[in-house]
Amino acid sequence: MDAFPPIVRRQREGGLVKFAQRLADGAVIESVIVPMREKEAGKARTTLCLSTQAGCRMGCVFCATGRMGLFRNLTPEEICGQIAAAESLGSRPENLVFMGMGEPLDNFENLVAAIRRLIESRPVRGERPLAYSTRQMIVSTCGLVPGIARLAAAGWKRLVLAVSLNAPNDEIRSRLMPVNRKHPMAELRQALLDYPLRGRVFMAEYVLFRGVNDRREHAAELAEWLRPFRACVNLISYNPAPGPAGRAAAEVLESPTAAEVERFRRWLRAEGQYARRREAKGRRIRAACGQLAGPAGPTAGS
Ligand code: SF4
Repeated sequence: MDAFPPIVRRQREGGLVKFAQRLADGAVIESVIVPMREKEAGKARTTLCLSTQAGCRMGCVFCATGRMGLFRNLTPEEICGQIAAAESLGSRPENLVFMGMGEPLDNFENLVAAIRRLIESRPVRGERPLAYSTRQMIVSTCGLVPGIARLAAAGWKRLVLAVSLNAPNDEIRSRLMPVNRKHPMAELRQALLDYPLRGRVFMAEYVLFRGVNDRREHAAELAEWLRPFRACVNLISYNPAPGPAGRAAAEVLESPTAAEVERFRRWLRAEGQYARRREAKGRRIRAACGQLAGPAGPTAGS
């Protein structure tokens, strides 16, 4: 097993494990091991949610990592080191999702180098390699259009692309996600149309905020925007993510109930758009979507 930065904290909620590693310069990053159940086989599998940056500069108002700002990009070794760390905790993740701290496409070179390293891994002196195929990976982006085009050029047709969409129109999306002011939804849609999905579904992540993006008309607008794609919409109820003060918008966001999420799912289905509710796992230990916020800077304590 490769050497990896030390694990300085570990928390559990059910089968889910969140762990933090301290990097050589003192930065602390978090990763999450998520147990999944393969329905058909009844077989337990695990997914590792990996960080690609210490902090993030994208500033999504609902995200604790975004409120930290960017400390720095992770190196390919630090990205892969999270897998070795997960292995040391007894997990051999089958799937890798680049969805933890940071925007993967904002650290493009190192992300690509890490993926190459994982798919080209070979056994060394009889050790088990950290070998993965791109079909076991999901790269999630907030919509960095130039990065989507560069990823398309890498030619990994089996790599699943997920987009954190969260809004049915520019007005709402720009309020929630500053990236949308630079790359509005029409530009994002064109980048996705140009991406070689080759019949494979792209994942649209949609965090629901009560009274903001969860109305009947929003479902219709979202379905219309997605019409040209084979998309799977993952509906996630907002996970409150307390963090450093200063982002008033985050303080007024509210989570919908499970019934409200289900109602939105039905509206989407009525519009012909496939959608599923994603269970919020790890909220209590702040391991759920948008909650990762281990102190990323070099002054971080253990
Ligand atoms: S949601 Fe992703 S891109 Fe947005 S601030 Fe959080 S980590 Fe960054």
